[in-house]
Amino acid sequence: MTNAASSGALEMDVTLNGGSEMPLLGFGTWQITGREAVDATVAALRSGYRHLDTATVYENEAQVGEAIRDSGVSRDDLFITTKLPPERAGGELETLRESLKLLDTDHVDLWLIHWPPDSGVGADIWRAFAEARELGLAKEIGVSNYSLEEIDELSAASGVPPAVNQIEWSPLLFDASQLEGHRERGIILEGYSGLRGGVLDSSAVIDISHRREVTPAQVVIRWHLQHGVVVIPKSRNPDRIRANADVSGFELSLDEMQALDRLSQSA
Ligand code: NAP
Repeated sequence: MTNAASSGALEMDVTLNGGSEMPLLGFGTWQITGREAVDATVAALRSGYRHLDTATVYENEAQVGEAIRDSGVSRDDLFITTKLPPERAGGELETLRESLKLLDTDHVDLWLIHWPPDSGVGADIWRAFAEARELGLAKEIGVSNYSLEEIDELSAASGVPPAVNQIEWSPLLFDASQLEGHRERGIILEGYSGLRGGVLDSSAVIDISHRREVTPAQVVIRWHLQHGVVVIPKSRNPDRIRANADVSGFELSLDEMQALDRLSQSA
């Protein structure tokens, strides 16, 4: 993965440990359901997003499936993630098959344990995940909301490291040791809620957005991409959906990247 801040190049895909290519930019679908979920996801697909993030608990997998059909985009061109709530332990494959039915597909590209179970790190759940990968129902398997220690415990128990850890991430939460810790383990850090928490109102982000003549959200999304971190902005607004994906026309300098990194020290 190239860091564009230092080299000028920007990779838009990352290779996961199972060999799949994952687009660094995806469309998040939390808190959109029903017709709104269909419309927003169609707008995202028409704006060029080829990576969609959903979950069993979002209760919108059927709408995401409908949007894919409506958009006319080929399934082969898409990267689809869904997630299992750990409370479904014991019924993992059944839950995945239900997700596949709702999404109207025979596999997901990435299946995540949505958060660690109340006790332990989910070694039994993880065995079912490995089986789903063997069966071709999930091309890649990963976790969400896990600490590096929990990931190490899971990997040691199973010999199967997760491909991805999806965690809350933004300039306000930047932690170089977290980023490096994931990289050392060959695990892709996927950020969520990157536009939340007041980051769009921070003066560093606003200053850069004025200088670059882009929106604050575009600055934050570009910051993720230049760090090689997966980012999955969600919006229900078609103009924002489009703009959030339109981030290839400018590049943050090393100074700007570092100014954004430093926001976590004042947060
Ligand atoms: P987000 O995408 O960072 O931010 C969404 C919020 O920002 C919405 O209120 C949205 O409002 C607003 N927004 C979007 N684009 C904007 C723009 N250009 N300018 C100003 N405001 C903008 O937050 P998120 O939905 O929490 O996280 C992203 C995705 O990550 C989720 O949708 C979900 O797929 C995933 N996620 C995963 C977990 C997990 O536990 N694994 C937890 C949370 C989220 P409008 O809709 O009105 O535009």
